[in-house]
Amino acid sequence: MKTQGGFQSIRYVLKKAKNAGGLRAMWKSMRSSNTCKTCALGMGGQKGGMVNEAGKFPQFCKKSVQAMAADMQGAITDEFIERYTIAQLSAMSPRELESCGRLTFPIHAGPLDSHYKRISWEEVMERTSKAIRETEPSRSFYYLSGRSSNEAGFLLQLAARIRGTNNVNNCSFFCHQASGVGLASVTGSGTATVVLEDLSKCDLVFLIGCNPASNHPRLLKNLIDLRRRGGKVIVVNPMKEPGLCKFKVPSDLLSLLFGSTISDIYVQPNIGGDSAFFLGVIKWLGEHDGFDSQFLENHAENFDAVAKRTSETPWAKIVELCGVSQEEIGQVASAYKESSGTIFCWAMGITHVEGGVDSVRAIANTAIARGMIGRKGAGLLPLRGHSNVQGMGTVGVVPTLKGKMAEAIEEELQIILPKSTGMDTMACMQASHGGEIDYAMCLGGNLLAANPDTRFAIDAMSKIQFVSYLSTTLNKGHFLGRGSETVVLPVLARDEEEQITTQESMFNFVRRSTGGMHRHVGPRSEVNIIAELAHSAIGGIAWEQFQNYSSIRELIAKCVSGFDPNEEHQIKGRTFHQPNFPTLTGKVVVHDVVPRTPSKLEDNQLRMMTIRSEGQFNTVVYEEEDIFRSQTRRDVVLMHPNDMKKMQFVQDQQVLVRGEAGEITVIVRVFDIRESNCAMYYPEANVLISNKIDQESKTPLFKGAVVELFPCVDV
Ligand code: SF4
Repeated sequence: MKTQGGFQSIRYVLKKAKNAGGLRAMWKSMRSSNTCKTCALGMGGQKGGMVNEAGKFPQFCKKSVQAMAADMQGAITDEFIERYTIAQLSAMSPRELESCGRLTFPIHAGPLDSHYKRISWEEVMERTSKAIRETEPSRSFYYLSGRSSNEAGFLLQLAARIRGTNNVNNCSFFCHQASGVGLASVTGSGTATVVLEDLSKCDLVFLIGCNPASNHPRLLKNLIDLRRRGGKVIVVNPMKEPGLCKFKVPSDLLSLLFGSTISDIYVQPNIGGDSAFFLGVIKWLGEHDGFDSQFLENHAENFDAVAKRTSETPWAKIVELCGVSQEEIGQVASAYKESSGTIFCWAMGITHVEGGVDSVRAIANTAIARGMIGRKGAGLLPLRGHSNVQGMGTVGVVPTLKGKMAEAIEEELQIILPKSTGMDTMACMQASHGGEIDYAMCLGGNLLAANPDTRFAIDAMSKIQFVSYLSTTLNKGHFLGRGSETVVLPVLARDEEEQITTQESMFNFVRRSTGGMHRHVGPRSEVNIIAELAHSAIGGIAWEQFQNYSSIRELIAKCVSGFDPNEEHQIKGRTFHQPNFPTLTGKVVVHDVVPRTPSKLEDNQLRMMTIRSEGQFNTVVYEEEDIFRSQTRRDVVLMHPNDMKKMQFVQDQQVLVRGEAGEITVIVRVFDIRESNCAMYYPEANVLISNKIDQESKTPLFKGAVVELFPCVDV
């Protein structure tokens, strides 16, 4: 298998930097004291750009350069807006829209308009303010992405609640919500139990349903260092990801020249087979004296239920459900038994599947079985996507505020917050589809593309009276996700802000971004826009005070436990280096997880998972090519050769894939993926996925959907 990364990544970065205004300009931007704009591993901040919280430099990757290059683009011109119709822009690919340039002036489109039109800031603020004022609060919603700052997130959720609605949510409802729900039910805290430093103390890392080579590239350096000190990496993923087999880390000379092995053991369960797989690992440990009985006795509740389930579930059943042989499960469990410090990492291969919350609990049960939680160099680490998605949850961008936070806000501001039940993201889309929403504000992100069942999402957005997008560049949502009236307000990127903003990494580390880069005249800060709109449309409190961002941080610190308004910091009370947990009893809570039974399949059916490519970040596709998987196009279905043979398909044959929500024509490509499973690119394949959600996490099921495949016939 070809080694991924290395010189091709270096060449790409140099080319990208050259096109974005030159190496010097890129270097200056990357080194500025701002948080990396891309993934939640977290780099940059007050220690300087490309520095992690452990002070290590240089820490950057292709993804961080891609995001920076997008912000460094030139401005979209009046002529561009006048020339292209909404229909033409709707037909552009996500990559083409992203590369049109930065939006620097507000634009507006009404119901009969064929084009967006430039409008002034005064007009856009007046129209938006009027829409908020005239909308009955329960008929509005506010959606935020992890691109925004804690300050903007806190302020907007506060404004929405003071206006009278709890319909506030963030993009995690379409990605990692199951991690938060699952972890909170186990440890009493919904985030990672480890800090970055723990990765240099452990001797085993599990990578479960995730592909950090593409999505969290700098994690690969930690894994290489781990293997160099004699540790191991176990990958659990239905797809054999080339980037998780061998990788060349550009910042490490030895790795760059010779490549580095990443995985010691690689197992490929069925999509959704993880809870059964981990039940198997626990069963093996039970049969081989592998439990940490002292930990279980003193620090865990209810482990007996899991032990009972493992003994009552025969091996044949476990193997049937997960698709991994007993021998392979034993190999994994044996390596785990030898470990003295294990960190379990996972991502959306776990949380996008029905029963995702239980899969998170099954992973936690496996950690608890050996006391791998509540001490240094061991624990649970959900690999979050966007750079501040976790911060959004921390500062209250959720439909239901934590009781203590709500009380603190009420006390500090002397207000009463609404007690109505807020709607999660999909509930907002359903309500929009039912004609129950008149106003929506989307702060960053691309709500339309993030949705399953694209047709439904377009219909839903079109029934909203007024939609406001606050964005840096164009995306498909601006054209296909329009309400009767739509405005797009151009905003500053975090490194362009005039005041400090903060962002929280997946390690619960809060960084401070200084801002300070001057690129374009026109875009305004998100905080500035929110405070002004809240003042004109909502009132109730002195919103002007929040034009000073430090006053927002001071308020956050009074309402969010462990948040420091003045320094970069690790949020207190979330990292467990001692086995004391914020649960009722102080112990971790074990859940008896019933392993999922995979859907039965007909001869022409497969279980499908949507995947992101190497040149992609969430819904933003920077490059059509997926170098790591050797795919030059995105309209493909990646299949096991036996399934191709069974369905009599050949490489590159055109097929129709039909899902519950729609169908799409793609070509067949052979791939090393567990038989009976297949993979297709997100967001394009979202047209196939229905808008059903996992009931516990409210997350759509982007993985595990059954699809039918038909050969295309020439006519
Ligand atoms: S790994 Fe994530 S945080 Fe680090 S440089 Fe890359 S995108 Fe930024």
